[in-house]
Amino acid sequence: METDVWCTVKSGLQEAIGDSAFKTWIAPLEYRGCDNGVLYLSAPSSFIGNWVSQHYGERLRRLASSPDHAVSRIDFSVSGARQQQAPAREAPRAPAPRHAPEPAQADLPSSPLDSRLTFDSFVVGKPNELAHAAARRVAEGGPVTFNPLFLYGGVGLGKTHLMHAIAHEIQSADKAPRVLYLSAEQFMYRFVQALRFKNTHSFKELFRSVDVLMVDDVQFIAGKESTQEEFFHTFNALVDQNKQIVISADCAPGEISGLEERIKSRLQSGLVVDLHPTDYELRLGILQAKSEHQARLNPGIEADARVLEFLAHRISSNVRVLEGALTRLYAFASLVGRPINLDMAQECLADVLRASERKVTVEEIIRKVADHYNVRMAELLGPRRARAVSRPRQVAMFLSKNLTTKSLPEIGRRFGGRDHTTVIHAVKKIEELRAVDSQISEEVELLRRMLEA
Ligand code: ADP
Ligand code: MG
Repeated sequence: METDVWCTVKSGLQEAIGDSAFKTWIAPLEYRGCDNGVLYLSAPSSFIGNWVSQHYGERLRRLASSPDHAVSRIDFSVSGARQQQAPAREAPRAPAPRHAPEPAQADLPSSPLDSRLTFDSFVVGKPNELAHAAARRVAEGGPVTFNPLFLYGGVGLGKTHLMHAIAHEIQSADKAPRVLYLSAEQFMYRFVQALRFKNTHSFKELFRSVDVLMVDDVQFIAGKESTQEEFFHTFNALVDQNKQIVISADCAPGEISGLEERIKSRLQSGLVVDLHPTDYELRLGILQAKSEHQARLNPGIEADARVLEFLAHRISSNVRVLEGALTRLYAFASLVGRPINLDMAQECLADVLRASERKVTVEEIIRKVADHYNVRMAELLGPRRARAVSRPRQVAMFLSKNLTTKSLPEIGRRFGGRDHTTVIHAVKKIEELRAVDSQISEEVELLRRMLEA
């Protein structure tokens, strides 16, 4: 079974179970391979894996089976623990490329680059201009002026896009330097493989022999001690040789919890730039560019300019969501032969529009958490300090901090007039617990999903 078959399986399931359940349970799964009638999937937590296997396992199995490839069993691993559970006979696999992958330089195990993610297709606006300029500078080559370049920002704001763009640009130069692009997860995976097959020596040699190293989503190695150790040494060796390093993460180096201090400070030693959430103008610019592209692929169809303005207004800052919305409009238009105007967009994107309208409130969080832990709301807000009440209270504070835009003092007030330092303490406590206690981390994740669904 190939990854595109997995896509078909997913869309079959989406139709069967509806968008909301799909988003909560199926979308987070990753396809890891299929071997001997066993379909290997990974889930962000064992809770999700178990749930899917109980509720949708049979349906998944049937959808994934074809006359010549019967799937008899589904094996779920947890994303972070994948390397121990991957089937022994399978070679390590790179994450599925989003589009025609280009082979990276033959002797380097670089992850495939998406040919669409170039500087040309990257729309620049105020929120990302600094990140873009820094990426351009690195891509020009020349003497290394800042090392590493550290890009951070929320999901779907273009970090991976910029990194691929740098890699494309560098590789197209005359005397192409050796570029290695991979996710931190891949880094860990390869490191673990090297440990397992006792060839850490060649692992080290390989990583130390590149001219440009790019590691995407470095927050992934937080809490993974030996991978961090190895990463630290690789990093230092390359910096010593004056080789360029580019790193991305979902938050600033200092804010990545579970990362060693020495690594944090190393990561801060170059240029740290963030990609800000998109603003209206940038969203409109991106939509225009993507719409032109879609119009070329679908002759005779073109979205009304007012539709693009409407979407730029109404859809969240995540560019991936914008893109998805536009793709759906063009697909719908070409399937049913309707022009893309406001009416059609509202109808076709009802769910996306509704989701971006939804803002979780502190009150909802308190209600959901109280419900989940079976304590009364009044107790959560009251003074009792017994663990049975204080832990849920901390979870609710943590979620309030992470899912709403309310300030710490404001959150404190909503929790029965508590001080903001109590909220800080709660947030820290839950962050710590999440790193070591998988039950808490799964509960928090589940609550988050329910609140955001
Ligand atoms: P991140 O790695 O920050 O989560 P990605 O780089 O994967 O985000 O971007 C998500 C999607 O949005 C990609 O398809 C990317 O091409 C697109 N995208 C993000 N920012 C821009 C931009 N400024 N111009 C064009 N496309 C963008
Ligand atoms: Mg990314």
